[in-house]
Amino acid sequence: MSDEHHSATEIPARLRLVIEEIALAAEGADRDPDETKLIAVSKTVPAAVIEEAIESGQRLFGENRVQEALGKWPALKELHADIELHLIGPLQSNKVREAVALFDVIETLDRPKLARALAEEMERQGTRPRLFVQVNTGEEPQKAGIAPEETASFIALCRDTFDLNIVGLMCIPPFDEEPAMHFALLAKLADELGIEELSMGMSGDFAKAVAFGATYVRVGSAIFGKRVLLD
Ligand SMILES: *Cc1c(COP(=O)(O)O)cnc(C)c1O
Repeated sequence: MSDEHHSATEIPARLRLVIEEIALAAEGADRDPDETKLIAVSKTVPAAVIEEAIESGQRLFGENRVQEALGKWPALKELHADIELHLIGPLQSNKVREAVALFDVIETLDRPKLARALAEEMERQGTRPRLFVQVNTGEEPQKAGIAPEETASFIALCRDTFDLNIVGLMCIPPFDEEPAMHFALLAKLADELGIEELSMGMSGDFAKAVAFGATYVRVGSAIFGKRVLLD
């Protein structure tokens, strides 16, 4: 059954293991384990399985598609008011309204046009989701994100022109590269810019991300099993 979601009953144990591994990595790096929060990435995972994670105490979740999230999370959030939902995938301008209404944190702010659209929509809805800027640390042409050397000026634009609540940086290192240098680069940028939160590290490398200062790790398959559907 390795190509299917873990059965629901495995999820509490998987969650515990990931949380333990985060604590170990923090200890090894002389960090306070409470400084790194676990985002359970529930893309492609059905609501009934997500419920198992919620029941075992998990409160932070991440989704990469607005449309998919809209099908699952309004009902789950109604049942569990203290859920914090992060958007970790690309945000198209025509989904900004729904994203602002549903997500507590949007991690993928990556262009001026989106900054403007978010500012207008937040004004309209009277809400202020916290925002992360996605940084393309590998400078991959096909990947979303602001180039590292443009991050400072982009954040200044977001804050000064659009009055946006930028609290963090996020990166997805190139698939085929050692992630450590990307984590180090993101941490250095955040430090230089006085940005508090760092979202980095996935199932394969979250312990390393913790060592480099992650305040959020985004872990999917290590909790929910290998995804059956494409993501
Ligand atoms: C899917 C996804 C993750 C989680 O990936 P796993 O390898 O399953 O832990 C983290 N971040 C982003 C942006 C994702 O799309």
